Amino acid sequence: MPTLPALAYQRDSTPTSTEPSSKEGTIVGTPSLSFKSETSSVIEKLPWDGYLEEDLPEKKEGKIFRDLRHIVFTIYHRIFGIVFFANAGILIALFVYGVTSQRLGLITVANIFVAIMMRQDYVVNAFFDVFTSVPQSWPLWFRLLMARVYHLGGIHSGAAVSGTIWLAATCAQGTQERVSGNGPISVATLTFAWLILIFLGCIIGFALPWFRSASHDTFERIHRFAGWTATGLVWVHVVLLTNDWRGEKSLGYALVHSAPMWLMFIITASLALPWTRLRKVPVRSVVLSDHAVRMYFQYKVFGMHPRPVPGSFGRVSLDPLQEWHAFACVPVPGTDEWSMVVSQAGDWTTKLIRDPPSEIWVRGTPVSGVLRVNIMFRRVVFVATGSGIGPIAPCLFAHDQEHRLLWTGSNIRKTFGDDLVNAVTAADPDAVIYDTRKYGRPDMVKLTYKMVKDFNAEAVVIISNEPLTKKVVYGLMSRGVPAFGAIWDS
Ligand SMILES: Cc1cc2nc3c(=O)[nH]c(=O)nc-3n(C[C@H](O)[C@H](O)[C@H](O)COP(=O)(O)OP(=O)(O)OC[C@H]3O[C@@H](n4cnc5c(N)ncnc54)[C@H](O)[C@@H]3O)c2cc1C
Repeated sequence: MPTLPALAYQRDSTPTSTEPSSKEGTIVGTPSLSFKSETSSVIEKLPWDGYLEEDLPEKKEGKIFRDLRHIVFTIYHRIFGIVFFANAGILIALFVYGVTSQRLGLITVANIFVAIMMRQDYVVNAFFDVFTSVPQSWPLWFRLLMARVYHLGGIHSGAAVSGTIWLAATCAQGTQERVSGNGPISVATLTFAWLILIFLGCIIGFALPWFRSASHDTFERIHRFAGWTATGLVWVHVVLLTNDWRGEKSLGYALVHSAPMWLMFIITASLALPWTRLRKVPVRSVVLSDHAVRMYFQYKVFGMHPRPVPGSFGRVSLDPLQEWHAFACVPVPGTDEWSMVVSQAGDWTTKLIRDPPSEIWVRGTPVSGVLRVNIMFRRVVFVATGSGIGPIAPCLFAHDQEHRLLWTGSNIRKTFGDDLVNAVTAADPDAVIYDTRKYGRPDMVKLTYKMVKDFNAEAVVIISNEPLTKKVVYGLMSRGVPAFGAIWDS
């Protein structure tokens, strides 16, 4: 009778041609070692056995302090606050020491510049490249600090909100200068300034979290089209404002020596860049089940060399002007292809599964996300629910550290297919694959905590739905276990 190590047993409910029947268990990675689990001769031992009886340690700190730290003043909000209050300080100083609509216009454009650049694919990747380059041998506290790089969206929103307030100040100051005859600002310049203010107000209003999560496609369209329109209006405004304040100089000379003009030039180039790489590429779609499709691409589709970085996402579309969807780039070990695993999550993904494409639009370059931070840690527990395995699989395949996977889902092998499940279990032979259809939903905080302790992990990275991600990250962080998950800021 084989003795089973606690975490060496994986049970996946759906049998396949290479698997034993559903009444048998398999030691993953050594398929020859199978045993009857429902016969009286063997007591079935599951890797999570007993976790419910184990006590979770008390959360650290009092509830109010804890919630302020982990929910209210997240790193994202703290970065937003730094950008916002730095701007507020400059604004107050300017109004105390003297201000003109020209100077306000410059600071407005500078903030818009920062906001847009912080969403630029290459800039985001550069941040991730630098911050995640910290060696695994460096002190944990420093790596944990650097790993918070995925909160950099706080700079984007902080600068966008500040830029809008600066623009409101520009409008107010310009109107006051115009009414009092105390400056050269023209009616046309003022009109454009107020128009841009309306556009930016709308963009921010429709980007508020409650609207963004309730109606993400509409948010994206408004962000894109209103953003492009606002950029065009800002160009006109910059030229008009420069013209108003050029004095005796020629307009051409004044423009060439105008900082806002050059900032606008970079902004426009940066917005246009991903679209210069818009192309329709062949895709080999394999429908895995009613719930998932896997799309296979050739390398270099995005101009990638030699392969997408684990933790990066590519954008695909069936209708480039209307909607784009980002999915993890999953290498296919031992081949020249990479793939995207797309599971059913709405109308668009349902259409993709029912009517899988042979060609699809791509643009830009794959962009790094929260999962990139995994490479900074020596021992990581990855947690995936359902299609969360898509982004996590490349990290497992890359073997950048010792890792253990917890993957929960319903009928996993049937939903995601043998190829993916086999590749995942080959990358982590001790992966814990938990069939929720068979065993019900686990207590994810408790189970993850147990795995962290058993595996002696430095950090946890989770890809799941929003409520569960927040629950697990909070449940672990408040007990002193470093945990990373998406923050739904875009
Ligand atoms: C950074 C990031 C990248 C992503 N990349 C991709 C991608 O490339 N492809 C893709 O298709 N999707 C992707 N997603 C979406 C993501 O995979 C899903 O939002 C998430 O995994 C939910 O999976 P699900 O839709 O299968 O359903 P879920 O509702 O999460 O269910 C999946 C399984 O988890 C179990 N479960 C759910 N909630 C709980 C709970 N509270 N307690 C215990 N068990 C629970 C369920 O029983 C079910 O069996 C990504 C998401 C993020 C944040």
